[in-house]
Amino acid sequence: HAKSDNQNDYRYFDQIMSGDAYEQFTIANELHDAIENDELIPFYQIKYDIKNNKTYGVEALVRWEHPKRGMLSPKDFISIAEATGLIADIDSMVLKKALHQAQTWRQTIAPDLHVSVNISQQQFEQKQFTNTITQALNETGIDPSAVILEVTESVALTHVNDADEKLQQLRQLGVNIAIDDFGTGYSSLHQIKSLPIDMIKIDRSFIKESNGQDQDAAIVRTIIALANNLGCQVTCEGIEENEQLTFIKNERCDYAQGYLFNRPQPANDVTKLLTS
Ligand code: C2E
Ligand code: MG
Ligand code: MG
Ligand code: MG
Repeated sequence: HAKSDNQNDYRYFDQIMSGDAYEQFTIANELHDAIENDELIPFYQIKYDIKNNKTYGVEALVRWEHPKRGMLSPKDFISIAEATGLIADIDSMVLKKALHQAQTWRQTIAPDLHVSVNISQQQFEQKQFTNTITQALNETGIDPSAVILEVTESVALTHVNDADEKLQQLRQLGVNIAIDDFGTGYSSLHQIKSLPIDMIKIDRSFIKESNGQDQDAAIVRTIIALANNLGCQVTCEGIEENEQLTFIKNERCDYAQGYLFNRPQPANDVTKLLTS
């Protein structure tokens, strides 16, 4: 190669490796090591039982304590983890840690605590997924009825029949199934009715704009009524203001999560919250 050609190559390389592409390429590489080095840790956000004014449980939300970049949140690496197939490993790790931590809390300070874990499509579709759950339950000794697996509508409804069977198997283990980000997918009410689910979580986007009068409020009201009619429990995520809390309480929502109460935080800080 002539020298000038090389320079052109480098210029091209610089171009494609600038900005997002370079960032994502680097992150994908680092993510491999991060799993082995235990840099991925669950934070926990408390979920409240707003009918009885008490703590209901915690949701595990993964964070990456990056040695150089600092604390990274899921938006910085979940899509990369999905694209590289690492997401299932991350989910299994979060699952084990979260169930273990929750069992510790149940045995010490919060006997009735529930724990929610997010399940990616890739993890859900793994053949051994039910075994992974069984193993985590056995290893930690946690009561399965204290465990909630959060899947999105699209996960619960892909190849409807397969998913249905898997959800049934999971429920036979005694764990609860929640549909996360409800309202953002394409599921029909008919499909939801036929799914073996225990809980619905209404997506934050509907809560954000609802002031009790507009269309989003009407949607929230309708989903809560639907959940109640189906015998599902219902959670509203993203509660940031008192008015929103008052509204969903009036609509007979069961549980709430959001910055109004607290942010996701490390286990140690949650221990203090659960003790106080
Ligand atoms: P999600 O499961 O719907 O979790 C709720 C997200 O909303 C969390 O973001 C939480 O920090 C945030 N949030 C909670 N309350 C409020 C509020 O009042 N206002 C606002 N603006 N946001 C609030 P986070 O932790 O960044 O997680 C984002 C998403 O990443 C999660 O959405 C979930 O889909 C995914 N995720 C997190 N951890 C895991 C994991 O271990 N495995 C998988 N597969 N996905 C995960
Ligand atoms: Mg969730
Ligand atoms: Mg959600
Ligand atoms: Mg959400």
